[in-house]
Amino acid sequence: MDYDKVEVPTEGSKIEATGEDELSVPDDPIIPIIYGDGVGSDVGPAAQTVLEAAAEATGREINWMRLYAGEAAREKYGENLPDETVEAIREHRVAIKGPLTTPVGAGFRSLNVALRKKLDLYANVRPTYHLDGVPSPVSEPEQMDMVTFRENTEDVYAGIEWEAGTDEVEQVKEFVEEDMGADDVIHDGPVGIGVKPISEFGSKRLVRRAIDYALEHDRDSVTLVHKGNIMKFTEGQFRDWGYEVADEEYGEEVITEDTLWEERDGEAPEDAVVVNDRIADNMLQQVLTRTDQYDVLATMNLNGDYISDACGAQIGGLGIAPGANFGDGRMLAEPVHGSAPKYEGQDKVNPTAIILSGRMMLEYLGWTDAADLVRDAVEETISSGRVTYDLERQLEDAEKLATSEFAEAVVENINDLA
Ligand code: NAP
Repeated sequence: MDYDKVEVPTEGSKIEATGEDELSVPDDPIIPIIYGDGVGSDVGPAAQTVLEAAAEATGREINWMRLYAGEAAREKYGENLPDETVEAIREHRVAIKGPLTTPVGAGFRSLNVALRKKLDLYANVRPTYHLDGVPSPVSEPEQMDMVTFRENTEDVYAGIEWEAGTDEVEQVKEFVEEDMGADDVIHDGPVGIGVKPISEFGSKRLVRRAIDYALEHDRDSVTLVHKGNIMKFTEGQFRDWGYEVADEEYGEEVITEDTLWEERDGEAPEDAVVVNDRIADNMLQQVLTRTDQYDVLATMNLNGDYISDACGAQIGGLGIAPGANFGDGRMLAEPVHGSAPKYEGQDKVNPTAIILSGRMMLEYLGWTDAADLVRDAVEETISSGRVTYDLERQLEDAEKLATSEFAEAVVENINDLA
């Protein structure tokens, strides 16, 4: 594809698809990067430095292709999310981005949501694991080792809602009350109304991805998290479709919790993944009180957002928590945190979250040696007490580093460990 304002690197090769969800990855891939808004321009370059060093230390080379969205795109293109940004990610298949600001209540809709939907990146994956030396509000943070698979295209992300006071909301209200018989449910006066679709297609492909991950990574269980006791035909249905996938598509590799107790007295077959379910409010408690009993979580959009943040709090918070969005044969790595505008340009915030998101990208490329190096080097840096402000304020005798200094310290450790 010809690009108007994107500079394509003169060196490097494109990652190509070899099957629906399979890639051929060269040793010198072109990787698109969006720095994003706010602190994105602090943490983005820090992540580049670290990922480049890990690639080089393992005999490879990353050729970055800078793309624009949010504020930078408004300046360059006069729009928030230029088509060529989306197309460049589609074409190059594996990319990384920083946070993008979304106004609350009014203004444009989330660019993050738009990107994930346009590229059909249907699974937002957030691993939460503890690194040695990271301060935590819980006494045994090392027990936290969960991976949340959060559906990325429907539920509240479908964005179907109507504003109070508009003709549209009145039409929806009339339809709900008069045609669908739900009278006396909606209060009189101004009201906003939203609709959350949960489809069989969307639920099953998400749960399938979570189960595949659990099988590939030797995990013990996949927990379907929902609020099906209240919303039976959306959240409850998600659970039922999830169990259908488990029952119908995996044979003996996967066993449901009911079958486990009914037929095997609670004894799981060796190497099998157990699929169970928990109600979302209970789950928020379970991740604190029975942390080591959960492994992979599969959730709809909103629940996944809450639960992964709650898990993230136990392992060091937003400065640490990584994430990535996956579609078939495509991924976009991005930290869980937002653009933290008050810290923009201060070279202050913690780049670990985007660095570890980049680690997920390296894993997806099949560069597990480079990915392990990144994890080990970040852990070595933090456990030696060299940390950014967010961790330094919780530690005694730690050395406070700027974003860029932290990245350099990680690079030093990569070179020492390689
Ligand atoms: P936020 O940007 O994540 O920041 C909230 C707080 O979390 C910060 O004030 C800071 O806490 C801490 N934090 C975040 N990133 C950190 C880092 N890298 N290192 C250390 N601490 C970090 O959340 P927000 O203020 O709710 O959202 C700001 C904007 O970002 C909004 O427009 C929102 O829509 C957007 N957002 C974008 C994404 C995305 O692009 N994927 C995700 C979430 C939010 P302390 O001040 O206490 O140190």
